[in-house]
Parts: sequence; structure tokens; C-alpha cells
Amino acid sequence: MQKLTDKFGRRISYLRLAITDRCNLRCQYCMPAKGIDIVDRKELLSYKEMYRIIRVLSELGVNKVRLTGGEPFVRKDFVNFLESLSFNDKLNEINITTNGALISKYIPKLETFNINAVNLSIDSLQKDKFAKITRRDVFDNVYATFLDLEKSKLKLKLNVVVQSGFNTDEIIDFIELTKDKDIAVRFIEEMPFNGKGQRKMDEDWNFKNIYSFIENHYKTINKVSSKKSSTSINYRIPNYKGTFGIIPAFTRTICGDCNRIRITATGLFKNCLFDGGVFNVRDFIRNGATDDELKELFINTVHHKPENGFVAEAARDNNVSESMSTIGG
Ligand code: SAM
Ligand code: SF4
Repeated sequence: MQKLTDKFGRRISYLRLAITDRCNLRCQYCMPAKGIDIVDRKELLSYKEMYRIIRVLSELGVNKVRLTGGEPFVRKDFVNFLESLSFNDKLNEINITTNGALISKYIPKLETFNINAVNLSIDSLQKDKFAKITRRDVFDNVYATFLDLEKSKLKLKLNVVVQSGFNTDEIIDFIELTKDKDIAVRFIEEMPFNGKGQRKMDEDWNFKNIYSFIENHYKTINKVSSKKSSTSINYRIPNYKGTFGIIPAFTRTICGDCNRIRITATGLFKNCLFDGGVFNVRDFIRNGATDDELKELFINTVHHKPENGFVAEAARDNNVSESMSTIGG
């Protein structure tokens, strides 16, 4: 079987799929207060289309899928979709990224599916600050989800976007959660995918600065070995149960080992987070493409994956400013 490989020899095995562009929160770094212009429902990929895309890609060697958005759980029947997807035995990993505000009640069900990990986005452990960041009063729900997930059989990662002037004073509090909890906290560099473009920041909280800040606090930090394609560089404080990692999302130092492609909620195929989209797989399907035609298109497109996020960004005809909610983070 022909696999998806680009001209730099990188094997593509990981799809990030946005289930919807809708979201129940309005995180400052992701979208404006009034939200984004959501598309008409008909323009969203249907579950049947998503299922088919994943099946075809899994026949080309994609064995890991992340379901994201927008907020995946705001789309009706998402849990049923997850259930059907968990029967695809070519997938080794199905992961979900969620803001957690709506999911507590689904956790027992999720435990029965073939879900590998849940990434819960939680940028502050303080109720007031959390409300300022998300522009919604849902901290209690999200924190309850955090505790429920931690008790569950599901692997748990926390996503924390490091935001100058907002939550940098909580970096150590987040790491301290890993002292007796077997969780992975991942600090993400903020990117200008927020519907407006680059935000004005007082300090540059890039990978290097986040790491030096942490290094100033702990005597010893041990590096943890991770998969070559891991998006985060991971560490453990000696004797702590869990780990923490930093994702150089904006400084883009990990592109050499990238194994990812993305498909947005409207079917836009992206070879790189920073490209402007390559073709619309939804239109191709709705125009009657066969599985073989789809496979050929995926193989040819992936071949031209840009070398890194800087090359991808430079080739765009507009600036990076769309919301992560439309791209699928
Ligand atoms: N709504 C879900 C959530 O928040 O987890 C899934 C979609 S969200 C777009 C996926 C991830 O992207 C979240 O962890 C979020 O914090 C992150 N994200 C969104 N906008 C970002 C930005 N401008 N820079 C860095 N990370 C961002
Ligand atoms: Fe919604 Fe996630 Fe964006 Fe926050 S980061 S606004 S929860 S899509």
C-alpha cells in the first residue's frame, strides 16, 4: 500500500480534524469577544464525510486522529461519531481536544470507547482569571471535568496557552499539579491565530523563556524521552508522578519531524498549521470523487508539504490571523 510521504521523507500518519467551527467559549487568544463568523451548517463536513475521509486516510497509513474544533462536544451526536470511529481498527490512537465545559457526563461512556487521551484546555486554576481568559463563567464545570478525567481510565493532558500578563504567574502551580497526579501539562506558545493577528504582548513567552522561568524555580529538571514526532518537549521534576512539556507552536522548532496534516470543519485540507489551505476535500467528495481519486489527491498533496511553518507562512497570500477555532487546534 502506498503511504503518505512528503518530499523531505517525512511519513504522514496523524490527522487533526476539526469537528465544528462553533464554540461555547470565547478565549481571548483564539477569537474576538463577539465570536467568529460561523459557516452555514451545510458547509460543515457531515459525520459520514468525516468517517469516509478518516477511513481513506487510514488506508494510506494514518493511524492517529485528533478530534478538535471549535469545541467538538457542541456538535450534536459527536459522542456517537466517536463510538463509530473507535471501530476503525487501523487507528492506533483517537485523541480529543476539548475545553471540557460540556463533557463531564460523557466521561463514563468515553471510557468504554477506544480513546487514547483527552487534552483538556485549562489556562488558569483561578476562577476569575479563567473567566477573563475564556469570557465565560464555566470554571467550575471545567475544573469538575478535570477531576473526573483524572479519576477516569482516560489518559489526561492539560493544554495551557502561556499568555503574557494573564497566566504566567501560574506556570509553577500547573507544574505542581504533576507532583501527585499522573498527568501531562503542556505549555503552548501563543500564536496569532485569533481572528485579528499578532496581539501586543509585554513579554515574549517563547519556549526558551518559558523553560528558563521554570529552570529558575526547580533545582533539577529531567528531560523525558518522547516520540520523535511529539509536538512537545517533555520534562519531569524528580519524583513527580506526572510530566510537563512545552510546545514551540510559534517558534516552530519541531517541523523537521512533523507527521501531521489537518482538515478544517469545512473540509479545507492543510499540510501545515501555517499554510492557507491547499484544497477542499468536502467539495471533492460532494462532486463524486471515488476512494481511489481521493487517495491520489491526498498522496500528491502531501508530497508538497512545506518544509516548515515559516516556508508555509511565507507562501500565503494573506497574514496568519484566522481563529484556531476554524482551523482546528
Ligand atoms: N475548543 C477546544 C479546546 O479549547 O480545547 C478545541 C479547539 S482549540 C482551537 C484547540 C487548542 O488550541 C486549545 O488547547 C487552545 O488552547 C489552543 N489554541 C487556540 N488558539 C490558540 C492560539 N492563538 N495560540 C496557541 N494555542 C491556541
Ligand atoms: Fe473555543 Fe477552544 Fe477557541 Fe477557547 S480555544 S474559544 S474553547 S475553540
